[in-house]
Amino acid sequence: MKALKERILKDGHCLPGGILKVDNFINHQMDPILMKSMAVEFVRRFASTEINKILTVEASGIAPAIMVGYLLEIPVVFAKKRKPSTMENMLVTEVFSFTKNQTYTICVSKDYLQSGDKVLFIDDFLANGNAGKGMIDLVQQAGAELVGMGFLIEKAFQKGGEALRQTGIHIESLAIIESLDNCQIKFKE
Ligand code: 5GP
Repeated sequence: MKALKERILKDGHCLPGGILKVDNFINHQMDPILMKSMAVEFVRRFASTEINKILTVEASGIAPAIMVGYLLEIPVVFAKKRKPSTMENMLVTEVFSFTKNQTYTICVSKDYLQSGDKVLFIDDFLANGNAGKGMIDLVQQAGAELVGMGFLIEKAFQKGGEALRQTGIHIESLAIIESLDNCQIKFKE
């Protein structure tokens, strides 16, 4: 998606270890106009897919997810990174975070992810695919169906995209980065 790639080049910053910082428009300050355009693009790309629920993970997936849910007029559920003591009836999985170098217990209430749901997972980044794999597990536990995954930014030099596509899931990434070597942002054409 041209507008996103241009914004990444203008305002994105590389950090050592293959991390792209997009705090100016996605991860801290957020640009709602761009966020809306990205959601419109997801809706276009998944137009032929039947979806009744958007699933994401807190915190950075929530903004793009709610934009897509708003456009499709369907509920948005975010998986929580800590099991609330007040909540029973949870589906639980483990996800290793690449940026935080830490394993999280991720959970969703069985009330909000159920058999028969046709789920689109939305997140900001696809790196090693650990969040995506955790979501596959949660959706399977619920007896729901994962009909697609949409990422704002995919880092193709990490292996998540390849692994998730091999499962046959419909995956869409709005900007695919081939390399961040020497702090140069290079997109896949
Ligand atoms: P994965 O689960 O695919 O290994 O990693 C995806 C998650 O890690 C995303 O939800 C995102 O929060 C975080 N992440 C991975 N790589 C980057 C990156 O280069 N920049 C930022 N800002 N977050 C990243």
